[in-house]
Amino acid sequence: MSDLRKKLFYSQKNGWDIISKEEKQAVLAYCEGYKSFLNTAKTERLAVKESIRLAEEAGFVAFERGMELTPGTKVYKSVRDKALMLTVIGKKPLNEGVNIAAGHVDAPRLDLKQSPMYEDSEIAYFKTHYYGGIKKYQWVAIPLELHGVVVLADGTAVEVAVGADPSDPVLVITDLLPHLAKDQIKKPMAEAIAGEALNLVAGSVPDDEDEEGSDRVKYAVLKILNEKYGIVEEDFLSAELEVIPSLPARDAGLDRSMIAGYGHDDRVCSYAELKAIIDIDTPEKTAVCILADKEEIGSEGVTGMQSQAFECFISDLCDSQNVKLHHCFENSFCISADVTNAFDPVYPEVSDKRNNAKVNYGVALAKFTGSRGKSGSSDASAEVVGKLRRLFKDNGVIWQMGELGKVDQGGGGTVAMYMANRNIDTIDAGVPVLSMHSPYEMVAKLDCYMTYKAVKTLYENR
Ligand code: MN
Ligand code: MN
Repeated sequence: MSDLRKKLFYSQKNGWDIISKEEKQAVLAYCEGYKSFLNTAKTERLAVKESIRLAEEAGFVAFERGMELTPGTKVYKSVRDKALMLTVIGKKPLNEGVNIAAGHVDAPRLDLKQSPMYEDSEIAYFKTHYYGGIKKYQWVAIPLELHGVVVLADGTAVEVAVGADPSDPVLVITDLLPHLAKDQIKKPMAEAIAGEALNLVAGSVPDDEDEEGSDRVKYAVLKILNEKYGIVEEDFLSAELEVIPSLPARDAGLDRSMIAGYGHDDRVCSYAELKAIIDIDTPEKTAVCILADKEEIGSEGVTGMQSQAFECFISDLCDSQNVKLHHCFENSFCISADVTNAFDPVYPEVSDKRNNAKVNYGVALAKFTGSRGKSGSSDASAEVVGKLRRLFKDNGVIWQMGELGKVDQGGGGTVAMYMANRNIDTIDAGVPVLSMHSPYEMVAKLDCYMTYKAVKTLYENR
């Protein structure tokens, strides 16, 4: 290839053809840590718990108002046990801004309804209401676990976990046998499995002491729940119980280049940020890591990224230096660390191949998200992209630009616009995912590591 040709054309290379032998080892080692995080951080609450454990191990302490904050101080603030913010105080004052990475730890799932239990034809069931964007047909006839919290009448919070331990039973939603699915298989995919059909089988044995009454199977299941957790049926009213796939993260592909697992969106970026903030030395600018909740349903609510919880935390930090919050925000920079779709050669028709992120091409920047003409997107500026482009080049971060699918094919959103609305320069960057939002998503190990490296590079930037 002539030098001029080389200079003028933009060409991308598979990441494995670029990285060094040593870095290949770093990729694999990093992903071992990620897999074990994914297998523990199964819900937003469990992700916060596990992140605090890892952070405390690395010297982070719970933030308290008025505590002394000096360069190198590592603190975290939990938002009602469902979201988490961590920071390492930098050498520069906060009016020069902070470097933020914001991911989310909630994932598409099924939630138990507030009155979930019923019995029909001597089978007991739990009714569910799905959370986030799912294809309902993917959730039937697979092993499921139940995790969450039940607040009892006296205010005690009881943690529930069914299915995580290999000796536990799993919960399953039934599907029709093909033999009798003549009508079902003709329905459009969106209608084949109704939302109200996502009912988990809870039990099938009638209570043996209660021979006369109705709902004897449900009664027997309630007895089991009461024995194990001390809960009664009314306690479901004040419960958050989440149903997730019982599918541990595993290497995928004969070359083990990928990881299959539930909830890569967005724990793959959340772990990258968490590991990055744990691994950095005292940065020039204060580093902030956000693990948000409620992204999958619009970042609403007290634990979502639209909540003032973030302002409260950063303004508490600013107070310690007599800095105004808005001065800090206008000089801050945020990577909205979230996944995007990976180009899937089995379904090429939904993507513009030239612009879609690809597996093994590194962390994917998304200048904009949204749908129908970038609607609902913060659309990062050329300057913002330019800044990261230089930073990544100088620090050996393998990256690509990615657009989620073809124009007018669909779209999506992240927390980016809520960060940008705060007068913070923001851009999306994260791992490309195959089968995104399914019970068993796939990511490439190289991309996971490069997302970590990208965030670490931002944190270490002056
Ligand atoms: Mn996401
Ligand atoms: Mn998502």
